[in-house]
Amino acid sequence: MATTKPQGLDQWRVSPGKRFTLAAVDPGTTPGAPADGDNERSATEKATKKLRERLRELQDRLHGEGSRSVLLVLQAMDTGGKDGTVKNVFAGVNPVAVDVHSFGLPSEEERAHDFLWRIHQRLPADGRVGIFNRSHYEDVLAVRVRNIAPKTVWEPRFDIINDFERGIVASGTLVIKVMLHISKEEQRARLQARIDRPDKRWKFRMGDLEDRVLWDDYQAAYDDAIQRTHTDTAPWLIVPADKKWYRDWAVLTIMVAHLEAMDPRYPDHPELDGTVIP
Ligand code: ADP
Repeated sequence: MATTKPQGLDQWRVSPGKRFTLAAVDPGTTPGAPADGDNERSATEKATKKLRERLRELQDRLHGEGSRSVLLVLQAMDTGGKDGTVKNVFAGVNPVAVDVHSFGLPSEEERAHDFLWRIHQRLPADGRVGIFNRSHYEDVLAVRVRNIAPKTVWEPRFDIINDFERGIVASGTLVIKVMLHISKEEQRARLQARIDRPDKRWKFRMGDLEDRVLWDDYQAAYDDAIQRTHTDTAPWLIVPADKKWYRDWAVLTIMVAHLEAMDPRYPDHPELDGTVIP
């Protein structure tokens, strides 16, 4: 089954050919939002509700069709909104056919295998939507910036990732890669809120402050990783994510556009025509 190119996503696409840099994308902007001016937020939130319904329908068809799958890869700096995006974008879908996995520091067993070993095991099966909260990209981001492994180890991984993703797509999984792009100031405010608010403190990690010091190195590593792994089969989309209501709408729009292009169909089962249950 052929999938056409999803429509209406140009505002988030990485321009082909040009040297990519996150610095060229303003995290506070709202490109393509359904309205501007005073009612921008309310119009966007209204559109978000409608998109949730549409995503629910399309996901049900994907599940019923049962022969292809979708993988959403979410990457972001700390506090970038990956958890909130998963919560808000997938609030309406049937959890029976969705798999969310958060990739944290690799375990001892995971470290004893190649970096894609743990990733492979979490790929969505036919009919399912898989969501990666962090992913194999940490192996060319965190690993590089924190000097966990030398360049001779992480540099070849760009090509390895491209081959891996090509293989996934060829076997019937649509790969959607989204970078939620926040500003350094927004990260400061969100980290501060994690300290100040009792209901958010559980999310605070001292390690987030160590990574914040490395902000520029992370941004540069993202620039490289996105440039090197932005392919026709698995392109990157960059979503300005300082405004959470915009980010949710944008990721929903991306999900719905991809599923519409996929156009999953409930199977006919003509052999059941005329069957009456006694
Ligand atoms: P999150 O910040 O996504 O909410 P955690 O607080 O559990 O989740 O943080 C996960 C941490 O694990 C992040 O700092 C991330 O960079 C790190 N991490 C994930 N995968 C790897 C990896 N393959 N190698 C090194 N560090 C990784």
